[in-house]
Amino acid sequence: MIVDLESGMKVVRPQGKAMFPYSNSLYIDDDIAVMIDAGAGGRAYQDIQSEKVDLLLLTHNHFDHVNGVSFFKNARLLASEKEAPGYTDSEIYASYAGYELWEELMDSPRQIKFGSLSAMPEDIPVNPGFHHIALNGYLQDGDIFDLGKNKLQAVYLPGHSHGHFGFIIEQSGIMFSSDIDLSPFGPWYGGLFSDVDQLVDSVNRIIELDPDILVTSHRRVFYKGQDDIIGSLKAYLAIAMEREQLIWEVLQTPQTRSDLLKRDYISHYRHQNEYTLFWTRMMILKHIESMNKRNIITCEDGLYRRA
Ligand SMILES: [Zn+2]
Repeated sequence: MIVDLESGMKVVRPQGKAMFPYSNSLYIDDDIAVMIDAGAGGRAYQDIQSEKVDLLLLTHNHFDHVNGVSFFKNARLLASEKEAPGYTDSEIYASYAGYELWEELMDSPRQIKFGSLSAMPEDIPVNPGFHHIALNGYLQDGDIFDLGKNKLQAVYLPGHSHGHFGFIIEQSGIMFSSDIDLSPFGPWYGGLFSDVDQLVDSVNRIIELDPDILVTSHRRVFYKGQDDIIGSLKAYLAIAMEREQLIWEVLQTPQTRSDLLKRDYISHYRHQNEYTLFWTRMMILKHIESMNKRNIITCEDGLYRRA
């Protein structure tokens, strides 16, 4: 489904729900035709001429954003330099998921591959896991792409992943914030290089940019005036802060790392499986790291306590 914005800008929405393995794309039909992200599925991309896309910009290296790169045969492909090794090296790609911590967090080896948990829909051309993607160059914070009528700016928004980018077209106030997605379940920062403090800074950067139209990867389009975009961004951040508060409350008494990680007081997911449990624990770990760094907790002799 296509949602027309203005001056040739279109949100390409998946035919199914914009949930994993799908995500929204933003298409800018200008002198240089740009597609942001490649996870809307083959059926959705039938509504545009994908062979005419000159430039494909990937916000980050998560499967639901990159699985459709093969639809854009004539496009130059750019993504963050920080995540570039993960596009060409399967071991580095796997390391981003943090599976080296699986046994510690889950008490048993990882047995089921994530890709075998559910079958992919027909219009997702590849299965989850590593796929070699050859980039033609890298995105840098502040890069401006002069497309003809529109100027598109890259905005580095790390936290969800270490190379996560958004994009803004300042003259029309349209921002694509990717996986800073205003999910009612709150932000996700369950990867090895995810960082909750960076995530907070990134959301605050969007608040400062104060977009008129916010397009995220997994929800409908938000319009200033109709929607309280700033309030929604603050509420989204508040969910991360509530998670920290829950950890703080548990630390009324000293806790081991294992006690803190395996107490399932934070739930990000409606349906649980061993992967959602793993990510929940990874996110608790990210909070512990953040609280430690900010000296509001300490760790001595394996026990965490309030500072
Ligand atoms: Zn993501």
